[in-house]
Amino acid sequence: MRRPLVAGNWKMHGDLKRAVNLARAVCAGAPDAVDVVLFPPYVHLQSVVDAVDATSVEVGAQDVHSATEGAFTGAVSASMVKDVGASHVIVGHSERRAIFGDTDDGVARKFALALDAAIAPILCVGETLTQRESGNAESVVLRQLDAVLERVGAEGLEAGMIAYEPVWAIGTGRTATPQQAQEMHAIIRDAVARRDEAVSQRIRVLYGGSVKADNARALFQEPDIDGALVGGASLNAEEFLEICKTAAD
Ligand code: PEP
Repeated sequence: MRRPLVAGNWKMHGDLKRAVNLARAVCAGAPDAVDVVLFPPYVHLQSVVDAVDATSVEVGAQDVHSATEGAFTGAVSASMVKDVGASHVIVGHSERRAIFGDTDDGVARKFALALDAAIAPILCVGETLTQRESGNAESVVLRQLDAVLERVGAEGLEAGMIAYEPVWAIGTGRTATPQQAQEMHAIIRDAVARRDEAVSQRIRVLYGGSVKADNARALFQEPDIDGALVGGASLNAEEFLEICKTAAD
């Protein structure tokens, strides 16, 4: 039985006051039976860590650099993120891959550095609409997953988790159907099983892509969907908590 996890990726939204208020509102209503992790922008990390103090809600960073330190103006390392109290980090989000040029190899290095810093990476994988329509969805997702498995092995992967996020469903209001999501989650779990059957049964695979309070239940009913990575809907405490409660049911 895998414990559900619901993550809120706030992206580059909000100011400090909104971030703290949102974090406090989530803490006030977060159900016990679900892991809840909030991903504010870097500059709000410390304040949100303070706001969730003494609650079960955890905090993560939206990305880290693929090196431990150096002359990388504007970048933040995994150990810096750990230092301010973050417990998780998202790596390989499709916006990072598409806008900032993150490669499979770079994402795998970020994943490994997060493990070294003792924070749990959430590896995002997912295909674009063109890749899906040309029949390449599975090969793209498996290539992204394999890059990380090659670097850290199944045991390393297990210290983090995976989020299947079809790019065509992110911020578009167009969710994958529960069947489409389940099909890819099962493919992902099978790929992990080929390396290590026990790890494949324990690792959590989240779904992300326009998850809302009104579509979460059908997604969470699928056997291989262990929670959600939520973007837009995580900016509204009430809606985000509805999703968390649905995951707890
Ligand atoms: C995301 O950015 O990871 C995401 C899933 O966004 P949204 O929920 O807004 O589609």
